Amino acid sequence: MGKPTGFKEFERMVVGYRDPLERLGDYQEIFRQPVEEKLATQGARCMDCGVPFCQSATGCPIDNLIPEWNDLVYQGRWREALDRLHKTNNFPEFTGRTCPAPCEGACVLGITDPPVTIKNIENAIIDRGFAEGWVTPNVPQKRTGKRVAIVGSGPAGLAAAAQLNSVGHEVTVYERADRIGGLLTYGIPNMKLGKDVVERRLDVMRAEGVKFVTGADVGRNVSPQSLLDDFDALVLATGATKPRDLPIPGRELSGIHFAMEFLTANTKSLLDSNHEDGEYISAAGKDVIVIGGGDTGTDCIGTSMRHGCASLVNFELLPQPPENRAPDNPWPQWPRIYRVDYGHEEVAAKFGDDPRSYCVMSKEFLDDGNGKVAGIRTVQVDWVKDNGRFQPVEIEGSEREWKADLVLLAMGFLGPEQYILDGLDVELDGRGNYQAEHGRFATSLEGVFAAGDCRRGQSLVVWAINEGRGVARAVDQYLMGVSSLPAPG
Ligand SMILES: Cc1cc2nc3c(=O)[nH]c(=O)nc-3n(C[C@H](O)[C@H](O)[C@H](O)COP(=O)(O)OP(=O)(O)OC[C@H]3O[C@@H](n4cnc5c(N)ncnc54)[C@H](O)[C@@H]3O)c2cc1C
Ligand code: SF4
Repeated sequence: MGKPTGFKEFERMVVGYRDPLERLGDYQEIFRQPVEEKLATQGARCMDCGVPFCQSATGCPIDNLIPEWNDLVYQGRWREALDRLHKTNNFPEFTGRTCPAPCEGACVLGITDPPVTIKNIENAIIDRGFAEGWVTPNVPQKRTGKRVAIVGSGPAGLAAAAQLNSVGHEVTVYERADRIGGLLTYGIPNMKLGKDVVERRLDVMRAEGVKFVTGADVGRNVSPQSLLDDFDALVLATGATKPRDLPIPGRELSGIHFAMEFLTANTKSLLDSNHEDGEYISAAGKDVIVIGGGDTGTDCIGTSMRHGCASLVNFELLPQPPENRAPDNPWPQWPRIYRVDYGHEEVAAKFGDDPRSYCVMSKEFLDDGNGKVAGIRTVQVDWVKDNGRFQPVEIEGSEREWKADLVLLAMGFLGPEQYILDGLDVELDGRGNYQAEHGRFATSLEGVFAAGDCRRGQSLVVWAINEGRGVARAVDQYLMGVSSLPAPG
């Protein structure tokens, strides 16, 4: 284990973010560089628990060997730590930056003390691996002659591709966008996940033999039948890209956009021309209201702030979470507590206050008289238990108008777009996702599998990696009868 008395000697110290006002001036990653000695003492805090809840139960969805690499980092054995990390995670640089870290919520130390800084340690191991040149392509020794097509190049499609390629199958990933990466590229903004970080991993995969085809919109300009004819198996990893709308009066006004219209165009324009082409929705000088929280809401906030918005407000329908775990949310569950994410911190630093307003229900978008949004009329709600379920109840007399000339809807996603199914007879589940059991990943159509957000609904990068690894094993078994690929929990 790390150091037997480590957790008593050393306090938790996370790798901080850059100063909020400084980072608002650029689109570079928000993270500071970690200090190696500090990471070693953080690794030393790990107790090497007999039952490491961090890597199982409600902890890490890909069973990362956390106590092992905590100890190796404490001992300065970084290269071995990297090998352990790659055993369970194809892309630690993505989770190390973006994961909410359920492992830390489940860390046993968290019962009495602040948990081990697992996510920082993971990220430091993989960044060191790339910096030292230890991450090199692993080209399979033998090819099986089997061909697999994957539709969608997000973390689920990429993890499936890496795993299937590693056992010798010939893998081609089809992506409708002009760049590979799914939401890693065109969802999560540069300040949280640099696109150079995505690209350096794609380079490794290309060198390993994975083929990528961009501009290939399966169901539109590529026929699903041609993939069934040309390949031995097909994996759908198309994500949950159908946004939830807010159909209240005034929705047709201009200046109201889905979050992904805003975020995707922003990143594309930034990567294409450093915003010089003007092909993005600018928040500069505008009063912005973001409706909805979560990662998507935060990323809309951080992006609007970098554009130079005049003001920013974020509506949450739910009440403000408690500072500490509520009695019905005990360890080792994911703590549903009040958190300040990078975007909230930036608004507070620039405008003085956290942007979030809780228990706010939007009733109507207001017209400026020329068909443009000028504001939102809202009402406060109370959450009242009715038949065992909490329901929002409007509070009389709490109506209010808010000024806005840009409104961003970040209210979640409703499963995969379904046009690909015009050429594929795949059944859907009750929520509109592709029907396939976790662990088997087989759809109702022979030889067609589904994984990631299109199967489980909108989720996390780490779950997409879990599903990508899982579907790879299922496809390998289907093609070869047996598989040596691991099955994540
Ligand atoms: C703005 C935003 C921020 C987020 N931030 C975080 C975060 O910080 N941490 C975290 O853990 N999770 C975050 N998430 C969630 C996470 O990004 C997703 O859970 C994850 O990317 C899902 O991976 P996936 O591979 O299933 O799908 P996706 O990443 O959605 O990739 C699906 C890909 O399929 C392509 N595609 C779809 N249909 C077709 C077709 N017919 N033909 C060809 N290609 C097609 C799409 O263009 C897309 O590139 C965020 C999500 C959003 C929207
Ligand atoms: S639960 Fe926490 S203390 Fe225990 S092994 Fe995992 S990281 Fe270490």
